[in-house]
Amino acid sequence: SANKGNKNTVTPMMAQYLEIKAQHPDALLFYRMGDFYELFFDDAVAASEALDIALTKRGKHNGEDIAMCGVPHHAAEGYFLTLIRKGFRVAVGEQMETPDEAKKRGYKAVVRREVVRLVTPGTLTEDSLLQARHHNFLAALGKVRDEFALSWADISTGAFHVMPVGQARIGAELARLGPSELLISEGVDEELREVLVEIGVETSILGNASFDSTAAETRLCGIFSVSTLAGFGNFTRAELSAMGALADYLDITQKGRMPMLRAPRQEAVSRLMSIDAATRRNLELTRSMQGGKADSLLSVIDMTVTAAGARLLERRVSSPSREIPVIHGRLEAVRWGLESGVTDSVRDTLRQVPDLDRALSRLALDRGGPRDLANIRNGIAQAEAISDRLEAVDLPELLQTSLEALRGQDPLLDQLEESLIAEPPLLARDGGFIAPGFNPDLDEARQLRDEGRGVIAGLQSKYSDLTGVTSLKIKHNNVLGYFVETTATHAEKMLSAPLSETFIHRQTTANQVRFTTVELTELETRILNAGAEALAIEKRLYESLKGAILDQAPALSEMAFALAEFDLSLGLAELARQRDWCMPKVDDSRAFEIEAGRHPVVEAALKSSGEVFIANDCALNAEGDKASVTLLTGPNMAGKSTYLRQNALIAILAQMGSYVPARSAHIGIVSQVFSRVGASDDLARGRSTFMVEMVETAAILNQADERALVILDEIGRGTATYDGLSIAWATLEHLHEENRVRGLFATHYHEMTALAGKLPGVKNATVAVKEWEGEVIFLHEVRDGAADRSYGVQVAQLAGLPTAVIKRARTVLEALEEGERGRTSPKALIDDLPLFAVAAQPEPKPVQSGPSEIEDRVADLLPDEMTPRDALQAIYDLKALL
Ligand code: ADP
Repeated sequence: SANKGNKNTVTPMMAQYLEIKAQHPDALLFYRMGDFYELFFDDAVAASEALDIALTKRGKHNGEDIAMCGVPHHAAEGYFLTLIRKGFRVAVGEQMETPDEAKKRGYKAVVRREVVRLVTPGTLTEDSLLQARHHNFLAALGKVRDEFALSWADISTGAFHVMPVGQARIGAELARLGPSELLISEGVDEELREVLVEIGVETSILGNASFDSTAAETRLCGIFSVSTLAGFGNFTRAELSAMGALADYLDITQKGRMPMLRAPRQEAVSRLMSIDAATRRNLELTRSMQGGKADSLLSVIDMTVTAAGARLLERRVSSPSREIPVIHGRLEAVRWGLESGVTDSVRDTLRQVPDLDRALSRLALDRGGPRDLANIRNGIAQAEAISDRLEAVDLPELLQTSLEALRGQDPLLDQLEESLIAEPPLLARDGGFIAPGFNPDLDEARQLRDEGRGVIAGLQSKYSDLTGVTSLKIKHNNVLGYFVETTATHAEKMLSAPLSETFIHRQTTANQVRFTTVELTELETRILNAGAEALAIEKRLYESLKGAILDQAPALSEMAFALAEFDLSLGLAELARQRDWCMPKVDDSRAFEIEAGRHPVVEAALKSSGEVFIANDCALNAEGDKASVTLLTGPNMAGKSTYLRQNALIAILAQMGSYVPARSAHIGIVSQVFSRVGASDDLARGRSTFMVEMVETAAILNQADERALVILDEIGRGTATYDGLSIAWATLEHLHEENRVRGLFATHYHEMTALAGKLPGVKNATVAVKEWEGEVIFLHEVRDGAADRSYGVQVAQLAGLPTAVIKRARTVLEALEEGERGRTSPKALIDDLPLFAVAAQPEPKPVQSGPSEIEDRVADLLPDEMTPRDALQAIYDLKALL
């Protein structure tokens, strides 16, 4: 048969490939061959398509061509990222010995290869693959019996956290963290998987053994070199399971090289303001609705000057606090930044602080280089500079604590300053990063090597004198080493005696002839030896400097965090100064009183087009445990959504510890923020928009308590009028009676304004507009009272609806309003409506100063008195006037 004898056709290399591949069936295997990574079989087909690179063939397997594609190893990182973004996993198979070493083992031995790393979205560390100003979290969901816990880590910074989480809140917490990858056990049930798909988080499934909570304890004790985890906190079984799975996955993907993790920090849900996924999307906290980072709250408030500061800001925006002392501590730090005279100079110093976290983590994973050593050195130096600057200054508590973490690294700093040159290269491979004068052996080896180079220059002039060939050169390449080169025309005399005794022919190329000499070969050996010796010394020194840094890793992490805290506080101070924001008063009352509040993102957008944002007050001062809801009516485009969101954003800003865009703000602590918009376009997620709206509303009615702040924008809009009105009505009643929230409720159902008279905690407000010559002018001013009309027709006109449609709409509206007053049924009304009088709308004519003849004629028409035939005739007459 065709398969006969196939065993013999598998080359030793292919056999090795298949063996490694069998251990990594789910990943694309990048198989190192010299300067390339090669992919074979289906991997090659998938990768060539995903990367848009050529697919070729190499040999045969089972009688069929083996598909192959490859990428140069030095450019591989970029390809890894592309593949990961497209949902692939990558296994990196490296050569573990040189071909020479393999040959020593035997004539046909294949170079030994091993997978040294699995590249997954949550385990990236390369600077080029990460966004400096954002976290890259790997998360794990642990479950023991009915308890859940989430653990998450950023291996590029060492941050490591864990927290118990109720099943219902898993989605919300994942939305807060936004992990790049989530580990779940194979036992996770369907319902939960659906939730995860919904959030769109990338999941990796691990065996149940990875989640075993007993094994987890052992594993974690090993990582942190402790005999018990009790010193870190009291962990539930589910928490241990989640942390253990995370550690196991790091072990699997990093192939035993454990990234540096800080001691796990337990987070309690109750300490943070809870904001669910829909609310985050809706308020555009860290991403805009379009999905980009631009135009999010984060993007307009970020004035930090370091990457670590920006990451801390992102974390604070995503998880505002609900602990009053914490919030006060942060606000005091911002206030100090505003009032102190040294802010600018400290910020200038901060600008020079490199990314310590990421440098540390690369060193710990052995993916670092001399430049990381220099980053640590520069970071410590700047930290000391700040500490010196502020030594005698009176600091608020938060910053005073941070300041203490900036000190204490003098010995390490001295060591790094003495040993490293100012700007070392990225890689240790080629040496050249240890400063002269630091190590006598190194200096000697370097001198020898460099002298050798001088001697070569001398040799070249000696040879050109000897031969009389002035264009003769001594050159170097990797194949021949050092050689003498002349053009073919001059070669003749060197190829014949007596010169041929000195010059030994090596190679003839198209235009050149190359020689070597005994002297040159000896010199080369000397240079090479000295060079290799210098390199070996540098590598040893690199390792010892790296060791010295990693010994101080916990303290350096603290230092990095302290610098980020300074950067964030001063960045927020700068923001408050530039935008004229105020310090909010945050306490445990149930007040919510904003004077002259603004929407930071809309304001920034308006400003850039030279327009002014109208500030508005908001007062939702709830008494005791009662509700306080403002029902907001007003036409579309008046600014209702903007007003609603700005108040939610002010609460979030205040509780993350920032000043707020308002003249004054008094906020009784908010535990949960909910924000919903009626019938948002969510078709992409495959559910009817109305269904989505109702599911989201249900979540609020089931969860909101009297510390919640609820923002509902046009709830009920997604269905027929009466359905929608009834749902909105009942929702508001429930929020008032049961949930007793502080809230803002925008609606276009004017009928609802009647509720203000019935429910004590509900009051009406409207966004004012002015009508002028039949057009509306938006004042964007929120006032007490209900809107008298919705001006929908006018807004439609502004939007460019054809005049005929606008006129017709006016007629229908008048009839409906007439009917409402006369209590006629809508059905009867509609039957009574005159027919649509204009059959087709011509192209709009250029605007004229006065009414045209056509307009005059139309104005004179009395449709109610016309028969259809008259109407038709009138249209003919009008058309003739065009
Ligand atoms: P609505 O929800 O009532 O339809 P929006 O809140 O979407 O209205 O606002 C419509 C537009 O009006 C916004 O895009 C913004 O440009 C402008 N706007 C809203 N509020 C203000 C304000 N307070 N000051 C100035 N312009 C505003």
